[in-house]
Amino acid sequence: MRIVFIGPPGAGKGTQAGRLIQLLEIPHLSTGDMLREAQQTQSEFGETAAEYMAAGKLVPDELILKIVHQRLSQNDCLQGCLFDGFPRTEPQAVALDAILAEQCSRLDHVLELRVEEDEILARLALRGRSDDQPDVIRKRLKSYLELTRPLVAYYERKNLLRPINGTGTTDEVFGRVRDAIGVTNDTSGDSAA
Ligand code: AMP
Repeated sequence: MRIVFIGPPGAGKGTQAGRLIQLLEIPHLSTGDMLREAQQTQSEFGETAAEYMAAGKLVPDELILKIVHQRLSQNDCLQGCLFDGFPRTEPQAVALDAILAEQCSRLDHVLELRVEEDEILARLALRGRSDDQPDVIRKRLKSYLELTRPLVAYYERKNLLRPINGTGTTDEVFGRVRDAIGVTNDTSGDSAA
């Protein structure tokens, strides 16, 4: 299964994605993690990406698409994968469709985690990551609303959009995620609900 997770920073995408990849046994493709890794290993992309990330700006599409293309050509992605934090712009979404079409595959679901802005700001204030400073948070939210939010309409037109209410406990939200993709068997055995 190929799934995209969309949602503002702080909506809980990382947590839900972590549970979903365990349930579905597919690789987790987080472009944010890949960029942070590139920074740590001082790879080619790391330095350029770091400047954008520290400013709360999106890293240029070209660089992101290079990283994603490389990652998708690895064998473990053949059975499916979960995209977290990608695509973040319409050109990225169009390019992803093209890359998948090259591999004779396509997306199955786009999960949009919906959380009110006040709650997002409160959650991010608690997280303490270096790009979670108030002014950077505001910029990240702004770029989400301007550049990423339009993807909701893009995927709605393709009939792939599954809106998820992101408020409540992680278990409650994960239950909604499972319902949205039609995978209701819980391998951890706590499927009483
Ligand atoms: P994340 O961990 O997904 O919140 O990403 C952290 C930062 O990495 C973002 O604020 C962007 O600067 C950058 N980033 C991650 N994914 C992308 C993407 N798909 N397109 C552009 N920039 C990205």
